[in-house]
Amino acid sequence: MQNEHTKPEHSRLVGLLTGWLKIEITRSQFAIFGLVGVLLILSGYAIWSSLSTRRLGEQAISSSMLSDHYASAAAAVAAEESLERKYRLEPSADVRRRYDTAVEALKHALELVSRDGTAEDRDIVDRVLAAHGPYLESINRMFAAIDRADIAAALQIDNNEVDPKFEIIAKAVESASDEHRSVSIRALQQLKSREVFNSEATTVAFLVGLLLVVMFARILRQARLQLDLQRNKAVHDSMHDALTGLPNRTLLKDRFEQALRRGRRDGWPTGLLLLDLDRFKDVNDTLGHQTGDFLLNQIGIRLSGRLREVDTIARLGGDEFAILLPGVEGIDGAVEVAQRLRLALTETFDIEGVEIEIEASIGVVISGVHGEDVVTLMKHADIAMYSAKHLGQGVLVYDPESDKYSFERLPLLGELRRGIDRGELLLNYQPKVYLSTNKVIGAEALVRWQHPERGLIFPDEFIPFAELTGLIGTLTRCVIDLALIQVRHWLDDGHRIPVAVNISARNLLDDQLVSFITESLQRYKLPAQMLEIEVTESAIMLDPQRAHKMLNQFHEIGIRISIDDFGAGYTSLAQLKTLPIDELKIDKSFVMTMQSEPSNTLIVKSVIELGHNLGMSVVAEGVETAEALAALTGYRCDFAQGY
Ligand code: C2E
Ligand code: CA
Ligand code: CA
Repeated sequence: MQNEHTKPEHSRLVGLLTGWLKIEITRSQFAIFGLVGVLLILSGYAIWSSLSTRRLGEQAISSSMLSDHYASAAAAVAAEESLERKYRLEPSADVRRRYDTAVEALKHALELVSRDGTAEDRDIVDRVLAAHGPYLESINRMFAAIDRADIAAALQIDNNEVDPKFEIIAKAVESASDEHRSVSIRALQQLKSREVFNSEATTVAFLVGLLLVVMFARILRQARLQLDLQRNKAVHDSMHDALTGLPNRTLLKDRFEQALRRGRRDGWPTGLLLLDLDRFKDVNDTLGHQTGDFLLNQIGIRLSGRLREVDTIARLGGDEFAILLPGVEGIDGAVEVAQRLRLALTETFDIEGVEIEIEASIGVVISGVHGEDVVTLMKHADIAMYSAKHLGQGVLVYDPESDKYSFERLPLLGELRRGIDRGELLLNYQPKVYLSTNKVIGAEALVRWQHPERGLIFPDEFIPFAELTGLIGTLTRCVIDLALIQVRHWLDDGHRIPVAVNISARNLLDDQLVSFITESLQRYKLPAQMLEIEVTESAIMLDPQRAHKMLNQFHEIGIRISIDDFGAGYTSLAQLKTLPIDELKIDKSFVMTMQSEPSNTLIVKSVIELGHNLGMSVVAEGVETAEALAALTGYRCDFAQGY
C-alpha cells in the first residue's frame, strides 16, 4: 500500500549510478593513457637527447681534429717560409735540413687532412700539392744559386718564382685552416650549449614528468576509490530499505540464519518480533504519502534507539517491521521487548506540527519453541501478528492451538463461507423510535457471526474481508433473507415493523440484487415498504452512475432508501438532490459528542434542516442518553436510534 512511488526513483538512481560508473571508467582509462604517454615522451626525449648530443660531440671531435691538421699544415708552411729566408741570409746544412723537415711536415699534415677531411678538403690538398711541386723546384734552384753565391740569380728566382707560388700555397692553407678553426669552435660551442640545455631540460622534464605521474596516479587512485565506494553502495542498497535505510528482508534473513546457527552452537534462543502498524493507511490517506514516508522513517529511528547493539530491525515493506533478537531471554524476554517497542510508538510523533500517535500489533516467536528455521519462524510470527491485530491484543506470542482459527485472510474467508452455509449469521435489531410519539416505528438489522469456537464476532471484523471478495454478495442476500423472515413473523404476530438492511459498496454493482429482493418480497408476501436500504455516501461515490441507477430501481419498487453515516462523507448537495433518497442518518460520531462539542451540535442541526428542506426524514444514530433524546426532539429530528 505504501512506497510504490519510490520505484521510479530507484530506477532513476540505478541509471545515474551506471552513468557515474562509465565516467569513472573513462577517467581511469584517461589516467592510464596519460601515464603511459608521459613515460613514452620522457623516454623518447632521453633517446633523442643522447643521440643528438653524441652526434654533436662526434662532429666537434672530427672538426677539431681537422682543424689541428690544418693548423699543422699552416705551421709547416710558415716554417718553410721562414727557413727559406734564413737560408738566403745564412745558408748552412742545418737550415737546409730543417727546411726539408718542414716540407715533410707539410706533406704529412696534408695527408692527414686528406684522410680525415671531406671531398672539399681533398680538393684543397690536391690544389696545394699541385702548387707545392713547382714551388719546390724553384726553391731548389734558388738554394743552388745561393750555394753558388749568385745572389742576383737567387733574388730573381725568389721574386719571380718562389714568392708568387708560395703565396698561393700559403693563402690556400691559411684560409682553410682559419675556416676549420672557426668550424671547430662553432661545433664545440654547439656541444657546450647542448650540454647546458640538456642539464636544464632534463631537470625540467624530470620535474614535469614526476608531476604528471603524480597527477595521473592521483586520478587513478580517486577513480579506484570512487569505484570502491559505488560498489560498496550497491551492495549496501541491495541489503537495505531505500526509504528508512534499515536492513531489508534479504539482510534480515541472512542475519536470522546466522543467529540461529550461533544460537544452536552456544545454546541460546533467537527471538523474532513481527510488527505491523495499526491503521497506518489512514495516515497515508489523510496526510499524504510523503508524510507517511517521513513517519515510517521516524518510527525506524525510534525503534532502533530502543534496541540492543546486537539486535536487528528490518523494514519488510509497507508498514511492517521485523526485529531480530539474538540470545533473547526466553519468551518472556521477547514479549518484554515487544511491549517496550509498542510503548515507544505510543509517544507522540510530531510531524510538521501534527501530533501523531501510532499503535502497532506485534507477533512474537522464539527459536526452539515456535520453530527451528527462518521460514517457519517467520510464518508463525506472521500468524501471531495477525491474531494480535484482529483480537486487538497488541502483543501476542504464537500459539499453535489458536493457529487454526487465526485470522489469516484465506482461512477466514473459507470459514465465513462455511459459516453462512451453516446458518451461523444472526441479526440484532436496533429499534428506530419516532420522536413525536416515542413509538418504535422500525428497526435496523445488524449482522453478527456466531462462531462455534470463537463466539460472537462483530461485523467490523468480517465485513471488510467479505467486501474484499465476492462473498459480500452472499452475505447481503443472507441478511436480507433473515430480515424478511423476521418481518414476516412480526407481521404474523400483528406488529408492523419495517426493517433497514445495510448495503455495501460492492452490492451497488450487483445487477442481480434487485431481482433477488423482488423475488424475496414475493416469497414472503411482503410489500416493498417493509424493507429499507441503508447505504453510505462513500459507497455511492465509488461508481455514482451505477449507484444512481440501482437506487432508482429500488425506489421504483417502493423500497425506502437511507443515507448512512451522513456527514462523514463528501456527497455533494447537487448529487443528493438527484438521488431518490427518503432519509438521512446522522453519523453517530456527531450525535454522541453533540453535547460536548458545539460544532457538532451545529452539524446535527444543519443536517436536520437540510434533510427537511429536501423533503427527507432524519434519523439520529448513537443516541445513548435521555438528554440527547430530549435535545434531538428540540431540534425537530424525526427518529432516534441507539443504546
Ligand atoms: P452502522 O450501519 O453505522 O451501524 C451502526 C453501528 O453503531 C452498529 O455497530 C451499532 O451496534 C452501533 N451503535 C448503534 N447505536 C449505538 C450507540 O448508541 N452507541 C454506540 N457506541 N454504538 C451504537 P455494529 O453492529 O458493530 O455495526 C458496525 C457496522 O457494520 C455498521 O455500521 C455497518 O456499517 C456494518 N454492518 C452491520 N451489519 C451489516 C450488514 O448486515 N451488512 C453490511 N453490509 N454491513 C453491516
Ligand atoms: Ca447502518
Ligand atoms: Ca451508521
